[in-house]
Amino acid sequence: MTAANKVAIVTGSSRGIGAAIAQRLAKDGFSVVVNFAGSAGAADELVQRIEQAGGRAIAAQADVSDAAAVARMFDAVEAAYGGIDVLVNNAGIMKLATLADSDDALFDSQIAINLKGPFNTLREASRRLRSGGRIINLSSSVVGMYQPGYAVYAATKAGVEAMTHVLAKELRGRDITVNDVAPGPTATALFLDGKPQDVVDRLAKLAPLERLGQPEDIAAVVAMLAGPDGAWINGQTLRANGGII
Ligand code: NDP
Repeated sequence: MTAANKVAIVTGSSRGIGAAIAQRLAKDGFSVVVNFAGSAGAADELVQRIEQAGGRAIAAQADVSDAAAVARMFDAVEAAYGGIDVLVNNAGIMKLATLADSDDALFDSQIAINLKGPFNTLREASRRLRSGGRIINLSSSVVGMYQPGYAVYAATKAGVEAMTHVLAKELRGRDITVNDVAPGPTATALFLDGKPQDVVDRLAKLAPLERLGQPEDIAAVVAMLAGPDGAWINGQTLRANGGII
């Protein structure tokens, strides 16, 4: 599979890891859909940067937790580009608290965006992706590490991994792979916001490579799975975390 004329939707790609994935896939030749929920300005700027670098991209607003909005986005992408080859389920939020201190809003918001969101997009993708397609879901290395405070967030990501394994089998005969990429601590707002510098420094040292992941580290793994070198990897979770687990 070469990227010429291939179309990739990257959910939640106005900022952070998703923005790096969108830029990398555009550099690799994909036409990229920069999905966002609220950050229209950042999404438009990213589309401009991609186009200035010679790539193709459009911005598409859709809250992934809204099934109708997701279906409309897939319709719009098919109308704009003629089909869809790659879905990267990257949109996500993280709210940390012990189970004892977790309120219903913490639970409901993470389930809606991190679990129902990928359900909505996977359903559309499984009906529409062209032969040769690729689906890449962003999980997290907290599935495995299971630190205190991460119960609900980790549960959403474990759920995503479960859907990955099942969908890979359900798409038998379609020549479509479904995999997870599970980052460790990565330098984005999701990880950094609200953490004192000493906590960030401690977490950065946990991996034997003794640094935080950068969005580009994760984008490289996603690009491998989306491109020709990833063709034989299917139904797997690739942890990209500097060796933290
Ligand atoms: P950021 O908070 O930096 O960016 C999140 C992105 O998701 C934004 O573009 C945001 O767009 C979008 N988004 C949020 N809610 C929605 C929604 N309802 N619908 C559509 N888009 C939405 O997060 P990261 O880049 O750090 O995280 C990306 C993914 O990687 C997530 O799934 C996260 O769980 C996972 N991950 C991150 C790790 C880390 O350490 N950073 C570690 C392991 C996994 P907008 O601004 O428009 O709302």
